[in-house]
Amino acid sequence: MSEAPRVAHIAVPSPLARHFDYLIPAALDVPKPGARVRVPFGRRETIGVVLTVDSTSDLPLDRLKPVREVLDSGALLPPVVMELLLWAAAYYHHPIGEVLHSALPVLLRRGLPATSVGEKRYALTPGAHEVLPETFKRSPLQQRLFQALRANPEGLNADALAAVATNWREPMKRLEARGLIRVSEDTCLRSAPVASQVAPELSAAQATAVAAIQEAAARFQCLLLHGVTGSGKTEVYLRAIEKAVARGGQVLVLVPEIGLTPQLVARFEGRLSAPVAVMHSGLNERERLCAWQAARSGEAAVVIGTRSAVFTPMPKLALILVDEEHDASFKQQDGFRYHARDVAIKRARDENVPVALGSATPSLESLYNAEQQRYRLLGLPERAGRAQPPRVQLLDLKRVKLNEGLSPTLIEALRARLERREQSLLFLNRRGFAPVLMCHDCGWLAPCQRCDARMTVHRRSRKLCCHHCGAEAPLPETCPDCGSGELHGVGEGTERIETALARLFPGARVERIDRDSTRRKGALEEKLRRVHAGEADILVGTQMLAKGHDFPNLTLVGVLNADQGLYSADFRSEERLVQQLVQVIGRAGRADKPGEVLVQTWHPDNPVFAALAHHDYREFARYALAEREAAGYPPFAHLALLRAESPSPAAALGFLRSAQQLALSAGVPASVHLMDPVPSAMERRAGRYRAQLLLQARERRALHDFLRAWLELLAQEKSGRKVRWSLDVDPVDMY
Ligand code: ADP
Ligand code: ZN
Ligand code: ZN
Repeated sequence: MSEAPRVAHIAVPSPLARHFDYLIPAALDVPKPGARVRVPFGRRETIGVVLTVDSTSDLPLDRLKPVREVLDSGALLPPVVMELLLWAAAYYHHPIGEVLHSALPVLLRRGLPATSVGEKRYALTPGAHEVLPETFKRSPLQQRLFQALRANPEGLNADALAAVATNWREPMKRLEARGLIRVSEDTCLRSAPVASQVAPELSAAQATAVAAIQEAAARFQCLLLHGVTGSGKTEVYLRAIEKAVARGGQVLVLVPEIGLTPQLVARFEGRLSAPVAVMHSGLNERERLCAWQAARSGEAAVVIGTRSAVFTPMPKLALILVDEEHDASFKQQDGFRYHARDVAIKRARDENVPVALGSATPSLESLYNAEQQRYRLLGLPERAGRAQPPRVQLLDLKRVKLNEGLSPTLIEALRARLERREQSLLFLNRRGFAPVLMCHDCGWLAPCQRCDARMTVHRRSRKLCCHHCGAEAPLPETCPDCGSGELHGVGEGTERIETALARLFPGARVERIDRDSTRRKGALEEKLRRVHAGEADILVGTQMLAKGHDFPNLTLVGVLNADQGLYSADFRSEERLVQQLVQVIGRAGRADKPGEVLVQTWHPDNPVFAALAHHDYREFARYALAEREAAGYPPFAHLALLRAESPSPAAALGFLRSAQQLALSAGVPASVHLMDPVPSAMERRAGRYRAQLLLQARERRALHDFLRAWLELLAQEKSGRKVRWSLDVDPVDMY
């Protein structure tokens, strides 16, 4: 007797790192791997994804529960994407059910049919406008709908119609039957039928880069496009995309979170005469599903998205681009801690297509891979068009009298720009008024009650805020320790600089751009519009200003606290500082007017600044890589970080000590180095005590084999139940 395969191995969203087996009742069709099913789970019902189907289980078959419903007739997630997700679950040691779930748009996770793409919209046909409302005297519901539609010629969706009449569907059918209604489906695809902008002629370096990506078509190759800011990387992307799309392929473009601006999307749409789908966290669930479907059906030729877009099914994938590949936002910082750039490279390999990583400041890992000939390095050493690199001058702050954080040289340079009606930008990576509130009589510093940190003074909103946990308190009038009224903000934040500029240059129009000033939806766009329209003279801002924006009339960049990040405990902080500074320096002198950059520092001799002044990122990379090699940090070693946190002071560290013991008694491979557990740099944060244990390994394989076995032991470990713990593979943020 031959038995049909009736056991489905299903990934169910659960913190358990395994799949669950279910029986497929004879009444249901056997689902394909990658299809969704509705299954009982504990006392509730959940949506799972089928991994495989066969006729065996570790459990007796009569103990298996039945699948209740098969939601997709085919594979919702195609085999290549399933394989990618299985690989990612294994590599990042994260439960498969959660990994698969995170790859699906929320509406699909909830079980909605995968066919429900656009939203239906109902409008009157042109002829219907001639019909008199009196026609519907006998059916008040039809009349109400008719009048609502007449008032909204662009049509109404189901939600809006339900607000007009709860039972709108029946009367709507009647109206439709009379030929009065036109139903259309909203689509999330954006495309100009014809590209509206003309392409510039490529420089020789750009042409070489486009040709190199072209040569790699239809096979795997990783290319690293290192182009200085304003060198025309985006132009290279556009050409490479056009070529891939012309051959009938789809292109996936990954961008950092704050890189996905309306300007970037508009630039893509203005140049590509192909349907573009955009995926980012600002979409509502229906828009997200719509974009996902358009990618999965092949209808979207180009998909531009942030981190999670890397898992989008694209049947005709021909090319992957990762813009600003060094950006830390490609790494997810909680839950499923994957790195979208690294996953993109793995995907390109699996699907046998080229992947190009672009940046003005590539990560040291990627530069090293290029040096090792694993990636093909493409350089764009010069700015596009006529723009010249700006002159970078270091301002030694020793023995200089500062005026609210501004040196006299910088103030004079600002004045000159105002006189010439040119724009300036002051970069300061600290929002708020002052980072510390201090009592000048007794030395009290306003602490956060829940963190090992100081509260930041926000004078506009008259508050103290903790930038680590979000706690807020009213600004005190007097010192809680000695009662003195001499409370003063120490140090500078963007708010204070804004105030100082208003005092120094009363006529100047100052635009502050940071997280506080752009909280309201649309506020950032409005501020950027004013800057572009020449309605601002001086911009003050945090790293929000550093990326991608092109301000042609901006000729001066001032960097206020360049030293932040120079001597930090995190081995990546210097790399991050240089990347930020290169980006912000790149804002100066983009068009015909030469740019000038003034960097205020207490440490002008630090080699970081020499590299900046020479516009030589590779010079910085060379010595930073040598340091990494000496210290055994990536890319010369592979890291994993076990973190734990708990409301009680000793529990987190206690758990990590047990974890260390478990590892030692089970045996740690010689190529894996297990450090001692230590409290995190900021031990208490949001009321929780945090600790971490770092692993350094020369061999990736040995590290992963060890981690797999260790995690099984940790899952059994009792002291782990009292703490929240997680493993971070290839951690980006170390503290
Ligand atoms: P990046 O992405 O490297 O910062 P962009 O692609 O945004 O650079 O290019 C910077 C500016 O130079 C843009 O205004 C762009 O239109 C222009 N540009 C790019 N390539 C060329 C070219 N070959 N000739 C003239 N202008 C160009
Ligand atoms: Zn005091
Ligand atoms: Zn706090």
